[in-house]
Amino acid sequence: MIEFLEVSKKYPNGTIALQDVSLHIPDGDFVFMIGPSGAGKSTMLKLLIREEKASSGKLMVDEFDLSKLSADKLPHLRRKVGLIFQDFKLLPSMTVWENIAFALFTRGTNDKEIADTVDEALATVSMSDKAASFPHQLSGGEMQRVAVARAIVGKPSVLLADEPTGNLDGKAAWEIMQILQKINDEGTTVVMATHNADIVRTLPHRVITIEHGKLVADHPTRKVKEEAKSK
Ligand code: ADP
Repeated sequence: MIEFLEVSKKYPNGTIALQDVSLHIPDGDFVFMIGPSGAGKSTMLKLLIREEKASSGKLMVDEFDLSKLSADKLPHLRRKVGLIFQDFKLLPSMTVWENIAFALFTRGTNDKEIADTVDEALATVSMSDKAASFPHQLSGGEMQRVAVARAIVGKPSVLLADEPTGNLDGKAAWEIMQILQKINDEGTTVVMATHNADIVRTLPHRVITIEHGKLVADHPTRKVKEEAKSK
């Protein structure tokens, strides 16, 4: 569960990036976040992983009250929330397998568990055959699939995606959307900031619109999803 209660964010230079945003996202939801550049979408995602702190208001992610989160609890929050970006942010000197395993190593997970969970994450994104490749040997779509595997390998309850299809062609973008859909179907909440009108129009998910730091529209999941699911 994600809950914004009258959340505002003012950056140190005085820019007001968010103003009194209230929003409830139940577990398992899939939400598109749209709005012009500079509207505040990335800021909302950064608040959710506590890369930035809200200036006022209350923000909850499951049991974590982010306005009160102590530094020693931050790693627990970061395990709960996976993140993918427009530009993938893979480590160029590591193989696909190492990129995905890296976070688990730093947490002290045992070798057998790392091997099993990395293999599972690779299979989820259909990249098992590229485990030994380096990022520069992959297409953009493949790099984003690896980034998705890295984001979900720790089994987060929430996956945040900041323009994940922004650097991909149409085919690769739809492959990523299929993977995000599969991850959501397995119970992970997905929040995706996007400018891709085609994707937002085609998929039936809830759409929230941010403009000038304010939530200006919240369109619920379209019925077609339920109909499609019951088939
Ligand atoms: P979006 O993701 O919708 O493009 P952002 O959340 O990146 O919007 O930005 C919202 C507003 O906050 C913009 O005016 C942007 O210039 C400003 N902003 C973002 N990050 C910072 C920062 N670190 N310091 C100052 N202003 C920032």
